Amino acid sequence: MVDCVFCKIIRGEIPSSPVYQDDMVVAFPDIHPKARVHILIVPREHIASIADLNQERASLLIRLIDAANRLAREEGIAGSGYRLVTNVGPDSGQEVQHLHWHLLGGDRLGGL
Ligand code: 5GP
Ligand code: ZN
Repeated sequence: MVDCVFCKIIRGEIPSSPVYQDDMVVAFPDIHPKARVHILIVPREHIASIADLNQERASLLIRLIDAANRLAREEGIAGSGYRLVTNVGPDSGQEVQHLHWHLLGGDRLGGL
């Protein structure tokens, strides 16, 4: 997607500091962190949201969650706890229409 900010980050057209990447997944810190640890975990493929995931893409979902759990361990928040959030559509406040999980932790997180 030409105009998608996360596709631009994945292509290296917008700078970021990846903390994890493999053939399917890229992760980088959120530009406006809402907690001490706030990492975005993103598939390389442009998919608008989890509303577009299905059985055929089950392996991608597992890879995204694997990356999140690995990053939580590396960031030292696996024991203290963390939250994985993904927004879908306008009422959720989804800003970037490219599927991503927010990995949040390192602080006491407010209630949902
Ligand atoms: P959403 O509201 O779509 O779930 O979250 C989008 C997130 O992307 C926001 O938390 C926002 O701060 C982050 N973001 C937007 N543009 C950029 C960018 O250019 N670089 C990085 N690292 N994060 C971004
Ligand atoms: Zn995209």
